[in-house]
Amino acid sequence: MLDNMNFYNFIHRQIPTLIVLFSGTGLTYIFFGYLYSSYFIEISWYLLLLLISFWGYRLHRAYSINNYTIEEKERWLKTLKYFLFIYFSVWTIMFFVYVSHDIVELHYIAITTQLGVSVVSATILVSEKKLSLFVLGTSMLPITIYLILVGEPYSYFIALLSIILGWVLLYASRNTYNYLQKSQFQAFHDYLTKLGNRHYFVNLLEDVIKIQKRENNFVYLLLIDLDYFKTINDTLGHDIGDILLCEVADRMSKLSKKHKCSVSRLGGDEFCILSSAYKDKDECQEKAVSFAEELLEEIKKTYIIDEHHLYISASIGVSIIDNSQIKASRFMKEADIAMYEAKSQGRDGVILFNNELSIRVERKLEVECALHFTIQNNEITLRYQPQINLNNEVIGCEVLARWSNEKLGNIGPNEFIEIAEKSGFIIELGYFILEESFKTLREWDEKGITLEQFSINISMRQLFDTSFLGNVSKLCEKYLDTNLRSKIIFEITETSAAEDLDRLIKIINTIKQCGFRFSMDDFGTGYSSLSYLRQLPIDELKIDKSFIFEIDGINQDSNMVKTILNIAKSLGLKIVAEGVENAFQKDFLINEQCDILQGYYFSKPVEKEEFEKYLFSYKK
Ligand code: C2E
Ligand code: MG
Ligand code: MG
Repeated sequence: MLDNMNFYNFIHRQIPTLIVLFSGTGLTYIFFGYLYSSYFIEISWYLLLLLISFWGYRLHRAYSINNYTIEEKERWLKTLKYFLFIYFSVWTIMFFVYVSHDIVELHYIAITTQLGVSVVSATILVSEKKLSLFVLGTSMLPITIYLILVGEPYSYFIALLSIILGWVLLYASRNTYNYLQKSQFQAFHDYLTKLGNRHYFVNLLEDVIKIQKRENNFVYLLLIDLDYFKTINDTLGHDIGDILLCEVADRMSKLSKKHKCSVSRLGGDEFCILSSAYKDKDECQEKAVSFAEELLEEIKKTYIIDEHHLYISASIGVSIIDNSQIKASRFMKEADIAMYEAKSQGRDGVILFNNELSIRVERKLEVECALHFTIQNNEITLRYQPQINLNNEVIGCEVLARWSNEKLGNIGPNEFIEIAEKSGFIIELGYFILEESFKTLREWDEKGITLEQFSINISMRQLFDTSFLGNVSKLCEKYLDTNLRSKIIFEITETSAAEDLDRLIKIINTIKQCGFRFSMDDFGTGYSSLSYLRQLPIDELKIDKSFIFEIDGINQDSNMVKTILNIAKSLGLKIVAEGVENAFQKDFLINEQCDILQGYYFSKPVEKEEFEKYLFSYKK
């Protein structure tokens, strides 16, 4: 299928030239007819040539006008081959007519024309091996036979020369053909895995969409991205990485053949699979997911490369081609969105594209785009949520970021912090929040407002960034003395803390040397174990609000809160309960000796000035 891809276009472009050349040269026979007073045969032959030329012209036009699919191109090519054979062979008729003539000049004309036809055929039909052999045979063989039949020593010699010429032409056309094949292969294939490349895949996809338009059927597209392939490349080297890619490609090809699918490598560790057509959309979807799952299982089987036993998984996005009005690139984007969703759901999975996903991704992109201008447009503000101790005093607050955008409205930190973390913008945003928080603390200190603690949320990506320590030191010098520093607690979330414990401990210890404290936020929702909690040099634990919400005197979670409180106490950690919304929860927590309470029952997160008022009125 692929091998002919270039030939279609190549031969299609040659047809007009050939028609002009043949019908122009053919006119010379009319002229010879006039010279030797033989009109009937020449004119009849020329009319036949024109008729065949017209056939060729129609074939050329049909190819230009119709958006042929690959299968239709194949059919077109078959007809074209008949046309070409006949078009070249028609000259042999005149050869026989002229060599059987008494006038010897006509013999020369016949031989020269036939040689010309042979050269033209060898040039134009290079990519069609069989056809060029046939055509060359029909044009060169009559010359050789004629020369042998002349029966003179010189004619035997020329007959031999004509055989050699035929062979040279064939040899030259083979060489050109091989070169064409090679360059065509390179243009459409991936050098490493020998699978079709992106260019090939896009052609195929466009073809499938054309068929879809006419036949209203359904095709699925799988986008496969290997998980953590870069790690294999980085740790074991590119040679091992390349072998692994070839083996993965091989497994995919075998399975794809079984399912009558076509697999291509888009680049790097990304592959694409296109199915055959289904009449029913549900069936297509079902088959897509089951094939993707089978493929995933196959990819995950052990690879033995050199002495290494390697395992790799993949994230697979599935998109169904069900609308011919949509461009090929759109379906690839859909599969891409689904694949990224599979990645963000922990990799090693299959996700089918759907509209809800598309809306979510578009929203994410919109938020991500707008997020980058938040600081320069002054769209980020800070709120402060009071924290109350067992003596019912406001002893501190938690700083919480807010974002208000003209177009998107108010966007909650749960949404934008995650996006900022993924895009890397959290570094810039985190710096801004740090500076604003430090300024507030300093301002309050100057106003005589003294708090025991001042909690700031820190994203793990921000903490792990090499610039963090330098930035904190710089801001400290500008805004905070040692006393103020000791009030600050950096809140980190346990969900991401598990990633690189040793490094995390080192970073926390270094920052603690500057006088800061650390708190484990949202405790109970992440992956922490007791030993992990023991190892981390933290000072405070914040029970996640979901546990506090369940304190209603009936639910088992009250016991869970009691257990967490006991653990914190036995580890010597201060404990904060966040999300306290009613008096029952508050009384329960006070009764259980929870050190600090925070929640809507006391106050929502409020602006700086409001916090000051709250503090003042609370004291009274
Ligand atoms: P978090 O650090 O656990 O913050 C507590 C969240 O609980 C805040 O939501 C707060 O408004 C909410 N909350 C407090 N009391 C109650 C209550 O009684 N009931 C209910 N239903 N909710 C309560 P918020 O402000 O939407 O923040 C959500 C999360 O976003 C935070 O969770 C934190 O992880 C992140 N975040 C907020 N600001 C920042 C920031 O400046 N930097 C970073 N890195 N993350 C931030
Ligand atoms: Mg927090
Ligand atoms: Mg929390």
